[in-house]
Amino acid sequence: MKRPLGESGLILNEPLLWEKGKKGRCGISISRRDVPSAEIDASMITDGPDFPDLSEVDVVRHYTRLSQWNFGVDTGMYPLGSCTMKYNPKINEKLAQFAGFTHAYPLLPEQLCQGALRLIYELEKYLAEITGMGAASVQPAAGAHGELAGMLIIHAYHKKKGQRRSKILVPDTAHGTNPASASLCRYRSIPVKSSEFGILSKESIESAMDEDTAGLMVTNPNTLGLFEENIRSIADIVHSKGGLVYCDGANMNALMGMVDMGALGIDVMHLNLHKTFSTPHGGGGPGSGPVCVRKDLEPFLPIPRVIEKQGRYYLSEAYPDTIGKLHAFFGNFGVMIKAYSYIRTLGAEGLKKASQLAVLNANYIKERLKEFLHLPYDRPCMHECVFSDKRQKAAKVTTLDMVKRLMDYGYHPPTIYFPLVVNGAIMIEPTETESKEDIDGLIEAFKAIVEEANHDPDLLRNAPFRCKVKRLDEAAAARNPRLTG
Ligand SMILES: *Cc1c(COP(=O)(O)O)cnc(C)c1O
Repeated sequence: MKRPLGESGLILNEPLLWEKGKKGRCGISISRRDVPSAEIDASMITDGPDFPDLSEVDVVRHYTRLSQWNFGVDTGMYPLGSCTMKYNPKINEKLAQFAGFTHAYPLLPEQLCQGALRLIYELEKYLAEITGMGAASVQPAAGAHGELAGMLIIHAYHKKKGQRRSKILVPDTAHGTNPASASLCRYRSIPVKSSEFGILSKESIESAMDEDTAGLMVTNPNTLGLFEENIRSIADIVHSKGGLVYCDGANMNALMGMVDMGALGIDVMHLNLHKTFSTPHGGGGPGSGPVCVRKDLEPFLPIPRVIEKQGRYYLSEAYPDTIGKLHAFFGNFGVMIKAYSYIRTLGAEGLKKASQLAVLNANYIKERLKEFLHLPYDRPCMHECVFSDKRQKAAKVTTLDMVKRLMDYGYHPPTIYFPLVVNGAIMIEPTETESKEDIDGLIEAFKAIVEEANHDPDLLRNAPFRCKVKRLDEAAAARNPRLTG
């Protein structure tokens, strides 16, 4: 195979700034004082923080070196399943940096921020159109926050009808945040098993759904990367018992321009702008998880809403049935600007093409990798596919060993041990932004690793070798973080 991407390079060691500092070094040059010195009141001088003395070049090199210890979508392929780590065009960042946006104070009167209000208004319209829903609110700040908003809306809907329901159905292929969001609304999650095909069956919903159940919370495509093909008839069953269907739409990257969620019977859903619509996901940066609803559920959306009257935009709180306010001001506006710019640059055709390519790339990987990795659900997938380490069991090589080794080949590991329904899962989401050459590189790397598993399993058990840090005790890292280095 070709030389692996991450094989070499000057990845330089770097001490702490405190170890690097030398008394008297200074990071700025200012001219000598040309006024007489004056006494200052000594009592005004307190001990400052213990900052090291450093030159400009010390500081620049320090942070540049640290930045190279990190891996990101700008460095290489990042096939982390369920996360849509695609490359995000820089033009969208640029537009989000326009001074008119970045300098806008959130408490500006409406007449002075018409552009920002219009952007929110139009973005909500686009998102409603892309999903096939009646209305949207961009206020929630993350996917899980959108889920919470959705659950609160479902709760408010039942309450308005004078009903109290205590349960919510959550399939075993749902994202982990789903039951958590449901229980924040005091709903009890009832797990529903998916069929041998990795999707929900009509029968399982039929037997679980009753009049104490507020609805179904379904991730579509689900976390196996499979489209819930029975969703239409499942939605009918839920509706016939007075429930609502919530769709976790964080996987919308597979469906844009191809699936009308409203027509599938979805009542409420959320999107992850920081996955599908041009903001990187992860790293703790700001996100946005818009909640979209069927037209008649619009009154329940969070306030304030941006409304339009004769070409002017206003903020309105005149929604008596609203679930209230979920975020300071209007949510994370910078993320919205990028999503708006992304949607406008790609247009309807471009968005559709993005989803088609995401699905094509995943199916290509599925077909090529299934020659040497076990594929538990061998059927067409959407934007991601899930393998396992079953075939490497005999050599006592695990999923963890294989993906640690992948880093030596210059690829970020995929998602592992999730979804839970697959033992030793390896979940790969290539996204539409990877070229065939890059995808082939990943496939070749996996192929080489599987060969190593057969011939030199000990090597894999000790991998990685070329990374800055080797195997970490991840549980200890979370429980006893060492924040000082
Ligand atoms: C990422 C993801 C979420 C959660 O989104 P956050 O922004 O991380 O809260 C929920 N559901 C699915 C299917 C996801 O992939």
